[in-house]
Amino acid sequence: MSSYLAGPPPERGIFCNRTLNMRAIKAIGYDMDYTLIHYKVEAWERRAYEHIRERLVAQGWPVRHLTFDPALAIRGLIIDTEKGNLLKANRFGFVKKALHGTRPMDFEAQRTEYARTIVDLSEKRWMFLNTLFSLSEACIYAQLVDLLDAGKLPGPMGYVDLYGTVRSTLDAAHMEGKLKAEIVASPERYVQPEPETALALLDQRSAGKKLLLITNSEWSYTVPMMHAAFDPFLPQGMTWRELFDVVIVSARKPEFFTTRAPFFEVVDTMGEALLRPHSGPFKPGAPYFGGSARELEHHLGMSGDEILYVGDHMFGDVHVTKNVLRWRTALILRELEEEVRAIAAFRATEARLAERMVVKERLETEACQLRLELQRRRIQYGPRSEAPEEQLLSRLAALRTELEALDAELGPMARAASELSNPHWGLLTRAGNDKSHLARQVERYADIYTSRVSNFLFVTPFVYLRSPRGSLPHDPNVPGGTPVFPSTDTTSGSNP
Ligand code: IMP
Ligand code: MG
Repeated sequence: MSSYLAGPPPERGIFCNRTLNMRAIKAIGYDMDYTLIHYKVEAWERRAYEHIRERLVAQGWPVRHLTFDPALAIRGLIIDTEKGNLLKANRFGFVKKALHGTRPMDFEAQRTEYARTIVDLSEKRWMFLNTLFSLSEACIYAQLVDLLDAGKLPGPMGYVDLYGTVRSTLDAAHMEGKLKAEIVASPERYVQPEPETALALLDQRSAGKKLLLITNSEWSYTVPMMHAAFDPFLPQGMTWRELFDVVIVSARKPEFFTTRAPFFEVVDTMGEALLRPHSGPFKPGAPYFGGSARELEHHLGMSGDEILYVGDHMFGDVHVTKNVLRWRTALILRELEEEVRAIAAFRATEARLAERMVVKERLETEACQLRLELQRRRIQYGPRSEAPEEQLLSRLAALRTELEALDAELGPMARAASELSNPHWGLLTRAGNDKSHLARQVERYADIYTSRVSNFLFVTPFVYLRSPRGSLPHDPNVPGGTPVFPSTDTTSGSNP
């Protein structure tokens, strides 16, 4: 216990957007993939990528030479399926960075394409990278856009058609069974073991919470994966099955949260799963297939604010759950650990950057005042000072020189800030000086967020998680427009 008393290291914290009293939570639902079980992202995604590539090769596409580039995409980016681009947008939906295929778009091209565009994820055009499972899809799509532009793919085909092909091919790879069979055969290659998760769930169960497993994975995949991830770390004789009050596989989230599909009981006979239509109360210990959250609420006799759902999929696990059912929600964002470490390592430069930006703003203010003074003199209106005009002009020239020197100093620091964590995309939660589109969704739909389930060990099942006071630009503690993570454009541009 003592190791947890010291509190979590900063990157393992549980971060709170909306106050959550864990004592008021009666049931905790868990997603499985990338929530209870964390995959070695590069290994899993490379294999998924290779499965897509093999399927395309089988269709005669010239893609045998393509290889997975794990740095090309990060979670939270947006695919513009109409233009063949990969984008990072800020919380308002303004595009801040873009690739066309795998090539960065320069500032002018980006401006021409997106100056009037606001990304609205409810439109079909945009595909949000909701989960780490999306990285293989984004990578191969970008590479295929290059090939399409070079006239090397069978046509006629547009960027939208190409995206459709990638999507259906990835779906098929996930569903067909070959990929999953490889994972099941060598979990050590694909799964990052996390022995402490079992203890965190045991604590919650022993504190009286009902635990639910609600996964989109099939029964045949769930059983070996949960066995490998939990059974070795539970008390002697206990298996993962006894940890959960309700187990639901092939849940078809997000539809699970929005529709009223029927439940089927999974009858496991000699490893062969048969489905039996279900009605009435759940049988203790029986696993279920499909179903709906409404029916589950009814079965549990609980209202949405008594259920916490923990998942990694921004849309399927968290957004819909909050929007439709008002369940309490937790997002698992493993990348947060790297993000928090990168921010900490940059702190000294960030402080220097902020300090120099204060100077820059002071000089800019003076330059603006001088320009106004000169304008009033020229047109002869309003109050004017007595100072000779040459003096004003020479001061203005001096200020411009100083500002140029400052920009030269600020440029590399701002660039370094924009390259933290990923050289092209930067931090997951930031876009320029603002929050990223992902960060906006996290604050909107996830009551709490954290890097992994075992972080609950640090706070216990009895914790009262309080959100910090939200800040606004006019708050006294927010430095006057001083960027914490400025965009590389340090020249007070008008780009939103
Ligand atoms: P969960 O996260 O436990 O709900 O399970 C996610 C399931 O969805 C896993 O079985 C994945 O293989 C599957 N999955 C993830 N991405 C895709 C996709 O793009 N198409 C089809 N299935 C997917
Ligand atoms: Mg998941």
